[in-house]
Amino acid sequence: MEILREHARWVQDDELCFGVLFSRDVGGVHGVEGRLERAFMEVELQGVWRRRVERSDAERVVVVGGMHGDERMGAAVIQELQDATHAIWEASDPVHVDVVLGNPMALEVSSRGTSSGRDLNRMFGPETVAEGESFESLRARELRTLVEGAARLIDLHQTHCDTPPLAVVSDTPAHLQLVARLGLEIAVVGTDRVYGACMIADLINRLGGIGITVETGRAETPEAFTNGRDVVQRFLTLDSSPLESLKPVRVLELAEAVPCPGPGLRFRKALGNTSRLKAGEVWAEWEGGELVAPRDVVVLLPHDDVAPGRACALFATDRGLFHPEASR
Ligand SMILES: [Zn+2]
Repeated sequence: MEILREHARWVQDDELCFGVLFSRDVGGVHGVEGRLERAFMEVELQGVWRRRVERSDAERVVVVGGMHGDERMGAAVIQELQDATHAIWEASDPVHVDVVLGNPMALEVSSRGTSSGRDLNRMFGPETVAEGESFESLRARELRTLVEGAARLIDLHQTHCDTPPLAVVSDTPAHLQLVARLGLEIAVVGTDRVYGACMIADLINRLGGIGITVETGRAETPEAFTNGRDVVQRFLTLDSSPLESLKPVRVLELAEAVPCPGPGLRFRKALGNTSRLKAGEVWAEWEGGELVAPRDVVVLLPHDDVAPGRACALFATDRGLFHPEASR
């Protein structure tokens, strides 16, 4: 596709000023014939790009990556999507898309937040937790305004343990159906019990849209990048994706966080996301004794190098399979 960059101008929209770069699909070989549209726009807000379609009644969706600065594979997907000529846009649904680099400043220093203990993705709860003047507080307020009115939002994350790609979602059929349509085979529900409903995906849910958080893989691995790109591709082509071949989704319900009991914690076997423990199994030891699985559980976010009192693992219950509907 040949793109002619025609001119730039400023428009006012939703109280935000956007720098607009119009592009023309020449010859109609790809995409929609003969129409001046599919403009790709750079938003004035730091790390946010908006792609518009001409249909005024089009839904708006949001793709976020790099909410945590040490999870750079999601950010790499966002960097790719800034390119208006990227192949992913050719098949995209007729929706307005905001492409968002969550925490640009934390990404610069490759740490979770701009300083220890700051976590942007815990600042979207119902109460105003984003007060103050830290970069995260300011960013949370900016993003709250930006995502208002979005029909769907996907937020790409990575973990620091081995993990298959999985979704973290609210426990509703609509969310689980979307998980299946994104090609993900595992959904973790009930995280609000451990963290509270304060992620950006929770905010979208409260505002009446559907928010989904995806762990695309282990941080810094090529799979985390390609899984992230694949899931975004599906997120942006829901209209044209077949529903007949959807796979069931295994639902893991978060039950509890296991605090590190004391110094010298070591796991008995290698644990990653979705590792399983049998009831009565000794799965870890520390200076003061052993840890025994209270029942059959699925392990999430295992870390044996945490300080006493911090969560060394989360336990989830396998609720079985959700079977997606083969209709829209
Ligand atoms: Zn994260």
